Amino acid sequence: MQRARLLVLLLAVACLVACSRGSRYKSLVFESLSSEPITERPAWLKQGIVMVGNWEPLTFRLRKGGAPVDVVRQWEAEHTEETVRRLKQQGVNLIVTNLHKGFGLQTEAQDIEATRKLVAIAHRYGIKVGGYIGASMFYETFFAEEPEASNWMQVNEWGKPVYYNPEQTNRYMACRNNPGYAAFIRRVLRLGVEDLKLDLIHFDQMEWWPEPRSCHCDYCREQFRAYLRSRYTPEQLRLRFGFTRLDDVVPPPFDLWAPPVRIPELNNPLMQEWARFRAFSLAQRYGEYDAYIHRLNPQVALEGNPNVNFALNKGFSQGVDLAQLLEHGDIVWSEEPNQAEWTADGRLVSKIRSFKAVRSMGKSLFVYTGGMRGASSPRLRMAEAMAYNDMNLGDVGEIGALRADGASITAEPEDARYIEFFHAHAQDLVDTSSVADAAVLRSFPAVEFNPARGGVSTILFEQTLIQTRVPFDIIFDRHLKDLAKYKVLVLADQDALSDAEVAQIRTFVENGGGLVATGDTSLYTDWRWRRGRFGLADLFGRDLPPAPNEPNRPVQRTFGKGRVVYLPRVEPSVPPPPPSMSYNFSKEYWKLPTNYRELEAAVEWAAGGRLSAKVDAPLSVTLELAEQKTTRNRLLHLVNYDIAKPIANLKAEVRIPEGMRLREAVLESPDSEKPEPLAAAVRDGVASFRIPRLKIYDLVLLRLEK
Ligand SMILES: [Zn+2]
Repeated sequence: MQRARLLVLLLAVACLVACSRGSRYKSLVFESLSSEPITERPAWLKQGIVMVGNWEPLTFRLRKGGAPVDVVRQWEAEHTEETVRRLKQQGVNLIVTNLHKGFGLQTEAQDIEATRKLVAIAHRYGIKVGGYIGASMFYETFFAEEPEASNWMQVNEWGKPVYYNPEQTNRYMACRNNPGYAAFIRRVLRLGVEDLKLDLIHFDQMEWWPEPRSCHCDYCREQFRAYLRSRYTPEQLRLRFGFTRLDDVVPPPFDLWAPPVRIPELNNPLMQEWARFRAFSLAQRYGEYDAYIHRLNPQVALEGNPNVNFALNKGFSQGVDLAQLLEHGDIVWSEEPNQAEWTADGRLVSKIRSFKAVRSMGKSLFVYTGGMRGASSPRLRMAEAMAYNDMNLGDVGEIGALRADGASITAEPEDARYIEFFHAHAQDLVDTSSVADAAVLRSFPAVEFNPARGGVSTILFEQTLIQTRVPFDIIFDRHLKDLAKYKVLVLADQDALSDAEVAQIRTFVENGGGLVATGDTSLYTDWRWRRGRFGLADLFGRDLPPAPNEPNRPVQRTFGKGRVVYLPRVEPSVPPPPPSMSYNFSKEYWKLPTNYRELEAAVEWAAGGRLSAKVDAPLSVTLELAEQKTTRNRLLHLVNYDIAKPIANLKAEVRIPEGMRLREAVLESPDSEKPEPLAAAVRDGVASFRIPRLKIYDLVLLRLEK
């Protein structure tokens, strides 16, 4: 190891040990930046985002191989004024293009100049431009340009490089925890923000590679030990590991027997802490990027791609903990394969989970909504984004399609109506938050460390609430401190809860909150130590889970001013994969559980029968209820996933908030020609009305007044 590097490392660690225990663990890699979340966000984001991307530089398109024969002309065409003019005409207001893929700033000079010109043209048309930064190093050129870069690699346990993927072996993954790489990223950010005048920075691969391919470099090792020392006192360390000396602790290897990771659940404390460290450090680095960009220009937005996908336990496998990561930035990507669809075997496939989880952290999501053809309709995907996202229609089409005369970026001409509708209704859609009766908890140690129980039951409970149209949010451990806005908390096999969390839940119910819990909920601590009886035994009215052969009967009780339902099991319709830490409970398993009616009834009873919205409709229809903060208007979004079957005459009820009265109810839809007033009757604070038709997407606007 080089002397200077060793010195930096020792200083960093010494400072950590000296200053950080007990306080918030300070930034290691970017000096002199606060890691506190930045609450002042770029104002332009809320005007509504309609995005297309052309982030792959020509250098990459050529080096990757397999390009179309006219790849050079295609790339040139994407950067012309004519293309920008047509994007503007078709409603696009953000282009995400290349900033630095990873070949080196000199090797990508032509690509970077193209970005500079594109930004200038786009700005003349009022279009914002984002710049892509990759996290891999194309060593064939990058190492020659950046002589220190061979020290920035992620390495495995044996010091060998971590590759991008099995085919693109010309790419080594860089370690974000490496100060040298961080300094390089700062150079790239200055180029993008100060020189090229970008409006948004996109960080791709904002995740660690899945175990067993995690980084074991010297920086990760040292920072891991420092993290443990900052998190625990010596007494706590002794309880955690049986000893307190951490000098020889190293990141745990995971592929000793048979990769991927086949351990059924994660009880090894060092493995748990390593997973938490990966999530923590990723969020720290993302927060540092945010702070640095904000210092350069507070109107530049930050966006990252942790590839949100709740079918996987990505908190364990890839260090993606949205509860930490989304303290920072503005938008995150999901490239999950769960395109909106109603399948022939009656499964509702959606990205609703990702939208909801990101929204409960106050951020929005990029997904592919237009463009791609296939089983899923672009209109349905845009409907989903309109209903569940926050002013963000996502990536609506293919910039490459514009080379043909008169072509549209969207797959079908009718899709363009959805983009027009989104812009035309910006005033109504802006500045809203969800109105949710239930909150589904995704406790980190339950879902991430025991995915075959905590993950499966949670996904199936969420599926139930989606398809039975119960308004709900997805929340994380941190949200347990403030449950007051919810009527019901759902704990679907959330087996691992800390003593403090158990106390928070008990207080919520004592004060009148509802609770629906299943299976092993609260049987373990957040370290996954088994309690002698449920932490919430007094609420459930029983000490231990029932034996597997006991009948699956819900038990209703009152506790304090609240109501509790305990159900032994969420019953999957499709048998889940066997337990494993490399888990994938993919959409093939998302059939409603066999006892979904009981789960729905439990939530309704625990809520005291006071749901904020009810719509009588088939199981292929979902709803989202939102409130506009300034006007207090209510927005009822309805999405029909079975797009081949339009529905007529739906009966709907929406609760009007206290102190407000209904001025008018109007049905708006991109599937019909013009808005339609609805006759609504209000009784006991509930507005009842009929919706004449639902093709794919309806927005019922309930305009309120004092
Ligand atoms: Zn590393």
